[in-house]
Amino acid sequence: MKIKNDAKISEEQAFRGIGVSSGIAIGPAYVIDQHGVPVPEYTLAASQIDLELKRFQAAINKTQKQLGQLKQKAESLPAGAVEEITLLLEAYRGMLSGSRLVRGVEELISNDKLNAEAAVQRQISSIAASFAAMEDSYLSARVTDVREVGSRLIRNLLQQQYNPFADAPEGSVLIAEEITPADTALMNPERISGFAAVLGGAEGHSAIMARALGLAAVLGVAELINGVNTGDTVIVDGIEGVVIVRPSATVLQHYKQESLKLAREAKKLKTLKDVPAITSDGTTITLQANLELPREVEAAIDAGASGVGLLRTEFMFMNRPDLPDEDEQFESIMQIVKNLDGRPLTVRTLDVGGEKLATALGSAVGESINPALGLRAIRLGLKQPKLLETQLAAILRASAYGPVRILVPMVSSVGQMSRVREHLFQVERRLRRRGVKLPAAMPPVGAMIEIPGAALAADALTKVCDFFAIGSNDLTQYTLAIDRGDDRVAELYDPFHPAVLRLIQFTVAAAWRANIPVSLCGEMASDPQAAALLMGLGLREFSMSPSNIPLVKQEILSLSISQAVAFAEAVMSKSDEAEICALLEAGAKNVSQQVSGAKRKIVK
Ligand code: PEP
Ligand code: MG
Repeated sequence: MKIKNDAKISEEQAFRGIGVSSGIAIGPAYVIDQHGVPVPEYTLAASQIDLELKRFQAAINKTQKQLGQLKQKAESLPAGAVEEITLLLEAYRGMLSGSRLVRGVEELISNDKLNAEAAVQRQISSIAASFAAMEDSYLSARVTDVREVGSRLIRNLLQQQYNPFADAPEGSVLIAEEITPADTALMNPERISGFAAVLGGAEGHSAIMARALGLAAVLGVAELINGVNTGDTVIVDGIEGVVIVRPSATVLQHYKQESLKLAREAKKLKTLKDVPAITSDGTTITLQANLELPREVEAAIDAGASGVGLLRTEFMFMNRPDLPDEDEQFESIMQIVKNLDGRPLTVRTLDVGGEKLATALGSAVGESINPALGLRAIRLGLKQPKLLETQLAAILRASAYGPVRILVPMVSSVGQMSRVREHLFQVERRLRRRGVKLPAAMPPVGAMIEIPGAALAADALTKVCDFFAIGSNDLTQYTLAIDRGDDRVAELYDPFHPAVLRLIQFTVAAAWRANIPVSLCGEMASDPQAAALLMGLGLREFSMSPSNIPLVKQEILSLSISQAVAFAEAVMSKSDEAEICALLEAGAKNVSQQVSGAKRKIVK
């Protein structure tokens, strides 16, 4: 499906979506052509044929799923457009079962021993040639549809190892059907000013990356399908979740002023950089940064981060067909340790699977029926010890250069942590035998608490963990059974749901009882409105998107712990999300004043 509509529309159009990264981007649209992908060709060994057929089937399944998602998305379009797009998508889906395309590809794989991508491409060419020979204008138009389905299949087989916007002009606003986290990793904020896409939700990793890079972004914009051409002026308003195409002079002027205002506010907040985050009654709060990419270290230090509370190591595995070896991973992490200049770094082991699929691991991760619940994160590491041990060795080596902690994602049991520790022990022994430089004391090893079961087992986990990091993004997703990246259920995704808050409270209490450090590093930590509540629940350490550190710090400076505790008590006494939301809107200072006023009355 092309988002681009060939019929040029010259008047202003506004489309609504989910504002996932605040800020305003104004620039020329660059509509990403997700079609022209270079295709490798190679001969398979006889023993690889079955596996290749399975890989092809997995790509068909994935393509079916994407087309299904697009169909649902299209349902929110005006009636005429729904019908047209639905019919087209249905036709595409039809081409994926028992069709000439599918049969032909299977034959090329089995008989000619051709790899799946090349087989799809060859089969498309052969269908196109025979359609063209029919000299029927309707049938030759169908060639476009076959090509469309074929390129989707190829993209899914290749898992997008390409840079789809390498030649976007400076200041461009990217427009696409879908922007993956791997795509976002390729964006340079000095060249790209923001993006908007048809698919995606607020807590998916593309959204998190956009916030990390300071790019304005709006996702889940159904109607983008209908009306943007490359070169159109576009405004992406990540605060309100609006995309305006071909704005009128008045609207453009308004947004330019808003954008200047935002820049002024950001400059003002920068003056807080060296001010320590201490509450008005003297409690120090640790504010650290989440890093998606090594190049963010500078921004983190500039924003006043006292360290890195979460290094997502997936960046080392993205946009490449092979796996990084121990030396490469060591170099990457060691460089970050050095750049942090004595500030602590928490390195999380690889968290791929689910939406965070690394190309090189594609076949190892496989297609889970339910990827969010499938083979991902530490489950994959424990199934593939070489993958885990290579990374542990790299982290251990880097920890000789500065303070490092090791964080394990998606832990659900004590046994998993014990096994990770055993692998770490083996790696340490091996490195010592090799005479490699190691730190005097081994780095602390902690668990992400992001599965409800882990939160409920927090007391037991304290026995095998040196620290906890609460991942409120996944904790919300799994507690409420809401896909964090799906815009269709985005309104149900609520980290302030009483069930999520209770799990956070339970985890923090267990950590305090066992006297181990506990931090929160989900997106909730970036929200100044959440600061009082989380401090009131006992949290003293947060890790967040660097750009939000000054805002959260400003809030902390204006609060006392006693206000935070009173506020948290008020929030935790509510069982209705709407009431909790109203308290958050009212703010901790107002609510705690009312609470203490009421208590005084009772005492009298
Ligand atoms: C989380 O789940 O809250 C978290 C910090 O991890 P990620 O967003 O990388 O899944
Ligand atoms: Mg997580």
